[in-house]
Amino acid sequence: MTRPDGLPGQIPHFIGGKQVPSISGATFDNLDPLTNQAYCTVAAGEAADVSAAVAAARSAFADGPWAGLLPRARARILHAIADAIESRDEHIAQLEAWDTGLPITQARGQARRAAENFRFFADLVVGLHEDAFRVGDSQLNYVVRQPKGVAGLITPWNTPFMLETWKLAPSLASGCTVVLKPAEWTPLSASLLPEIMAEAGVPDGVFNIVQGIGEDAGAALVAHPDVPLISFTGETTTGRIIMRSAADHLKSLSMELGGKSPCVVFADADLERALDGAVFGVFSLNGERCTAGSRILVERSIYDEFVARLAERAQRVTVGPPSDPATQIGALVHREHYERVLAYVAIGQAEGARLVAGGRRPQHLTEGNFLGATVFADVEPEMRIFQEEIFGPVVCVTPFTDEAEAVALANDTKYGLAAYVWTGDLKRGHRVARAIQSGMAWLNSHNVRDLRTPFGGIKASGLGHEGGHHSIDFYTDQRVIHVAVGDPGTPRFGVSTAS
Ligand code: NAD
Repeated sequence: MTRPDGLPGQIPHFIGGKQVPSISGATFDNLDPLTNQAYCTVAAGEAADVSAAVAAARSAFADGPWAGLLPRARARILHAIADAIESRDEHIAQLEAWDTGLPITQARGQARRAAENFRFFADLVVGLHEDAFRVGDSQLNYVVRQPKGVAGLITPWNTPFMLETWKLAPSLASGCTVVLKPAEWTPLSASLLPEIMAEAGVPDGVFNIVQGIGEDAGAALVAHPDVPLISFTGETTTGRIIMRSAADHLKSLSMELGGKSPCVVFADADLERALDGAVFGVFSLNGERCTAGSRILVERSIYDEFVARLAERAQRVTVGPPSDPATQIGALVHREHYERVLAYVAIGQAEGARLVAGGRRPQHLTEGNFLGATVFADVEPEMRIFQEEIFGPVVCVTPFTDEAEAVALANDTKYGLAAYVWTGDLKRGHRVARAIQSGMAWLNSHNVRDLRTPFGGIKASGLGHEGGHHSIDFYTDQRVIHVAVGDPGTPRFGVSTAS
């Protein structure tokens, strides 16, 4: 893959409107997933850098205009951010594909969605109303929303730019100031945000980035007493650590965690469309997708045919360099992650699942973190590959006999993020979608997002929802003011003379 133009040699922090190195001078290497060679160094943030960023954000919150701007004024700036993203979307996509290994066509989609995140929340805050309640003629009670303060945003390496903006847009729209801690494996696209924010007119200190390792920079952000809320997307195990640390300060938390989502295919489904949805649902974004339909449950009467067609489609999924527009699966993000995914392929084979496609590096790709689209059939619910999130282009297929068994299998996991149901019987579709324990379900559809809806998981997949006004609810405090407009009838204690 040719190096994209404009690759930085070093990626600094961005604090109080300035690009700065770590106070200690520490850095770490950033690797590209095609050669696993270091191509730049990144400032390795520690507690002192986090403190500097939080201080800048706190002073911008307390002293600057941002928190008090009318929604329209903030919305104008958010639209300007979206304009600035759109004006360089090809560059963002190139850098994203280079840093993450995502196919360029899909990285372009992510850049467009990043701009849409800002437009959506800009429009939302302008139209937002606050509640008011009348109690007869005596009282009027009204709600005021206020931004909570400095928001700590911690994001993962899959679709990094899109997920960073998914948190930045609502937090900034709400009037918070922010400190963003991007994932250490994918710091590159976030390094474009300072110039984007400056071009859009975001005041210094409102937006800050501390790059660094999760256990250092991320943990320091979670532990900082002046950060009252943390929005985190990442692994369930990391989420647990964050919740423990945040408990000391009773922080507001939004936790978007892992998944092992079922894709249930009934015999009466439009099988061609179900196949399209199933293949795209697990192999797009390199399978590094929290909502991937990574367990396909298929009604027994069509099981053999479906497995054969799925295997055939998987074998034809094009694996190649991220920069090639024909590529459908690129390179996995990091050698460590690649080895973890390969270990799961070995585990699946050792557990006795039937490998019907992929499972190894395609022959034409001699180096880099490449894996062919991998399908395991006859996967039993006790197997680790059925239960654990693999987060790569690997799917399990399991047969079921009836609706009750389909639901039981779908729910036989600690996770509860997404679910996909394919059937020609809409009544059954609704019934099954409700019975599966997941934060989100799609019926006869792949994962098409509607930004107004609550996004998030249940069970081990998350806590709290963002999306639409749910995001604004998270980034603001809602306080109520009760006003006597008549006589609310106060009991007169201490007035009557006691005998
Ligand atoms: P991760 O938990 O390893 O890291 C996520 C972020 O947390 C990174 O920025 C990391 O540096 C930071 N971090 C790590 N340890 C920390 C600590 N002790 N304190 C504070 N911060 C810390 O996750 P990942 O491997 O980057 O991402 C993949 C995971 O994210 C998968 O499980 C995937 O399902 C999940 N994910 C969930 C959603 C969702 O919306 N539910 C979306 C995307 C990804």
